[in-house]
Amino acid sequence: MSANPKSVSTGSAFQLLIGGRKVPGASQLDVINPATGKVFASCARTSRAQLDAAVAAAKSAFPAWSKLPLAERRALLLKIAAALTARIEEFARLLTQETGKPLAAAQREMKGCIGLTHAYAALDLPSKVIKQTEQGRVVRQQAPLGVVAAITAWNFPMTLLANKVPPALLAGNTVVLKPAPTTPLTTLLFAEVCADILPPGVLNVIVDQNDLGSALTEHPDIAKVTFTGSTATGKKVMASAAGTVKRVTLELGGNDAAIVLDDANIKEIAPRIYGAAMHNCGQVCIAIKRVYVHDSQYDAMCEELGKLAAQAVLGDGLEPTTTMGPLQNKAQFEKVQEFLADAHANGKVIAGGKVLQREGYFIEPTIVRDIPDSARLVREEQFGPVLPVLRYTDVNDAIERANSTEYGLGSSVWSADAERAFEVAQQIGAGTVWVNKHLEVAPEGPFGGAKQSGFGVEMGQEGLEEFTQVRIINLNK
Ligand code: NAD
Repeated sequence: MSANPKSVSTGSAFQLLIGGRKVPGASQLDVINPATGKVFASCARTSRAQLDAAVAAAKSAFPAWSKLPLAERRALLLKIAAALTARIEEFARLLTQETGKPLAAAQREMKGCIGLTHAYAALDLPSKVIKQTEQGRVVRQQAPLGVVAAITAWNFPMTLLANKVPPALLAGNTVVLKPAPTTPLTTLLFAEVCADILPPGVLNVIVDQNDLGSALTEHPDIAKVTFTGSTATGKKVMASAAGTVKRVTLELGGNDAAIVLDDANIKEIAPRIYGAAMHNCGQVCIAIKRVYVHDSQYDAMCEELGKLAAQAVLGDGLEPTTTMGPLQNKAQFEKVQEFLADAHANGKVIAGGKVLQREGYFIEPTIVRDIPDSARLVREEQFGPVLPVLRYTDVNDAIERANSTEYGLGSSVWSADAERAFEVAQQIGAGTVWVNKHLEVAPEGPFGGAKQSGFGVEMGQEGLEEFTQVRIINLNK
């Protein structure tokens, strides 16, 4: 634990949750505030033996939990939502400290997390009679799977767990939850809240240092893995799940394109495009990561985006004036600097372009023009505040270039004529295509990726049913 005066007093907090008990780790893990680059808290870190204990606890809790009427499980989810609401400010401040995002964004993330919990709790999984004759009937049920491993990324720790834990539990599964190693604290605070509400073993929370993921996804007593993270790790998850034919939901990376048609009102849409590219310092799976603009409007769009980037106020997310925080961790900070170097070498940087000479992991929001499609910044997922703006003359060419990626998470089309944009939207290979907006994800769902952005969906009835399997009961009188 650092002697940093701004450090969080951990006391007995930030412990693991295994079998209903808050337990210390086999060792401790330091957590860095990305706005300072310094350790500000430490938390429990799980050993392999503790991981096995967490899975065993979830396995032994499953029979009773899965037999509880869904309405009782729903009531407990609503209690969790109420308990999160009561501690929303504490969660939001901690979220800002561990992720770097501005406090207002952390507060929105918490409200979203609570909203998702309510939205899942409103759903149901009724049995359906699909055939009835004099001799009998055929009943379709959505049965729970068993123990679910939920693995999350560091960009939205609370949003991501809210799309995994509530639906898994509502459907009657038990859970072992593992956050990303650089953002474990809000997940452990969530564990503390749930410890007082859920029966022992129903939710277990472990923390690693990127060393226990495969032990979890290979574990023979895990029935399903719900994973959010990079495509590279998603491939490993899929391979290791094969051993025991686990069900998997993979929410992976993206390289979302925005196509701006020649009739779009640039002044009006530029702030929305900028916002969807730079939200959370560009660290959003569905951030706009490439913008294709018609030749006739290209200069105007570059100019508007440049002006917006110049207005950003970078700083610690706890400062009320901050509009953009730091990159979340050192590895990502270094990776984005490689994209920045690529931008300087292959394109023309018209705004930003520098690493801030201060403590923490800060990179200016950067707009890059006249960069070829072959550049790394265009081909790969930058996951940071560096946005390439690309020129096209023929819309079919723009569509082809937008689609020429292994990713297929989101995309958007912008036009003064929404129906014209709709025609273009139908030609994009992505799980979500927005018209005249981007980033908006509705709790009614479903949300999921195409191509190597993953498979399976989250949110809504389909998101809930991902945590079940069909059971047909074919009854003869
Ligand atoms: P990552 O793949 O490095 O890590 C994600 C999680 O996987 C972490 O908890 C990590 O500890 C764990 N992990 C590491 N190795 C593992 C293994 N072998 N087996 C199982 N788990 C393992 O991803 P990241 O850098 O934390 O997150 C950024 C990525 O996540 C970006 O590509 C982003 O686009 C993507 N993402 C996708 C969505 C979506 O909904 N599609 C949402 C948020 C982020």
